[in-house]
Amino acid sequence: MDNLRPELKLLYELQNYDIRISDIRRKISKAPSLVEEKKKSLEYKKTATETKKKNFVKLNSLRKEKEVSLDSKEKAISAHSAGLNSAKSNDVYKAVLLKIEKAGSDKSVIENEILELMDKIEKESVIVKSAEDELKEFEKIIKNEIKEFENFIKKLEKEVTAVEKEREEYKLKISKPILMQYERLRDGRDGRGICLINNESCGGCGMMLRPQLINQAYKCHELVFCDNCSRILLQK
Ligand SMILES: [Zn+2]
Repeated sequence: MDNLRPELKLLYELQNYDIRISDIRRKISKAPSLVEEKKKSLEYKKTATETKKKNFVKLNSLRKEKEVSLDSKEKAISAHSAGLNSAKSNDVYKAVLLKIEKAGSDKSVIENEILELMDKIEKESVIVKSAEDELKEFEKIIKNEIKEFENFIKKLEKEVTAVEKEREEYKLKISKPILMQYERLRDGRDGRGICLINNESCGGCGMMLRPQLINQAYKCHELVFCDNCSRILLQK
């Protein structure tokens, strides 16, 4: 009877190609979600910067509103002051004077508010500027990382194509029935359809093997399978 060992050794080598291929394919399949994650972190930072800018714009428009009302108070004061001279009676005079005082105190409240706003605006402009600088830097880093990552994936794709081509050539050395048996086993078993016998145990699942199986594997006249995981056993 033929000894299958040389062919099983070839099959074991073929499995190394398969392991490499599936490792590379796994890395490639993770790429889209990793790129997406990086893009999301950039979007998040952009939104945070936009929020800071909106706050800055809001404070500025509030300041403009205050300046408009300050202007109207000033106009009211000068209108009332002009009215003082034409006051016909003492009571009218006093009433106009009160109006001037009221407008004056309103005016100083608004002036204080404007000063406070200017202070806030100044602080906010520093915050916005540094957030924008940070965003620019972050965007540069993320875009660079994505580009490098995409190049890496391209390299992996080239590599996997090359390994697959080698595998296609290599598999011609193995008879079809054995190859089919192996591929069927491999697909349901973590990418490994053949394993070595290590210290009387199956190298795939770790189960102790019956002496008869070890003996059969040693003779190698036929395919021998692990009782537990059904992988092809190879005694080197
Ligand atoms: Zn096993």
